[in-house]
Amino acid sequence: NRIPLVAGNWKMNFNHLEATYFVQKFAWLLRDAHVDPRTCEVALMPSFTSIRSVQVLVEADDLPIKYGAQSVSVTSQGAFTGDVSADMLAALGCSYVIVGHSERRKYHPEDDANIVDQVRAVLAAGMRPILCVGESYEERKQGIELDFAVGQVRDVTRDLSVEEATKLLIAYEPVWAIGTGMVATPQSAQDAAKAIRDDIRETFGDETATSLRILYGGSVTSKNASQLITQPDVDGFLVGGASLHAEELAKIVRLV
Ligand code: 13P
Repeated sequence: NRIPLVAGNWKMNFNHLEATYFVQKFAWLLRDAHVDPRTCEVALMPSFTSIRSVQVLVEADDLPIKYGAQSVSVTSQGAFTGDVSADMLAALGCSYVIVGHSERRKYHPEDDANIVDQVRAVLAAGMRPILCVGESYEERKQGIELDFAVGQVRDVTRDLSVEEATKLLIAYEPVWAIGTGMVATPQSAQDAAKAIRDDIRETFGDETATSLRILYGGSVTSKNASQLITQPDVDGFLVGGASLHAEELAKIVRLV
């Protein structure tokens, strides 16, 4: 009974004009494919500068597309040059915010404490965080990938209440699979998603674990999506490169 989610993480691509063009074309493709938001949710995660343009299009035609941001400030307002607050994103109608993406962990000083604060800020503003976790090639080589991903989830969720945890989504994105064309096998995506769900069950109980949506991310395309989505604990995708092509993203949505 978990509604799958296909979310396109555009990363630092598309200015607002390109985003506008994409959404117009993508909306047409979804309509053509009779995509029903009750059976598959679709979301786009543009750069901050394009969110308003996406909002205008979605609201004007009541499109079956949700949207969100790729990161957020941990503070609510004030002298934080260059930051964007959760309330600002909520005011733009954002449903989701990606938190703790491996690229943010790598290129910005985002550690667990900061990621916990982002999760809190997103929840307080009434949106849902998509928490990204996943091992690098090193951990996989050592055979500790499941413990590593579960540990990352624990480090961020340990102080959350059951109510807060219930609003969370988790994206399992093994770092070695991101942007490399080396997709995880359906079985290893399933193993990680199941390990994460089992751990959430232990901490927060059966109801939270059963409703938790766990996405897979890392070189998802229309060629591998149908295999991955058959896995019982994989509830959708966080798509990077393939989400920059409207036809390809629509194809993935159709397979889910
Ligand atoms: P790719 O789909 O380009 O591998 O990126 C995955 C990702 O990082 C989504 O957040």
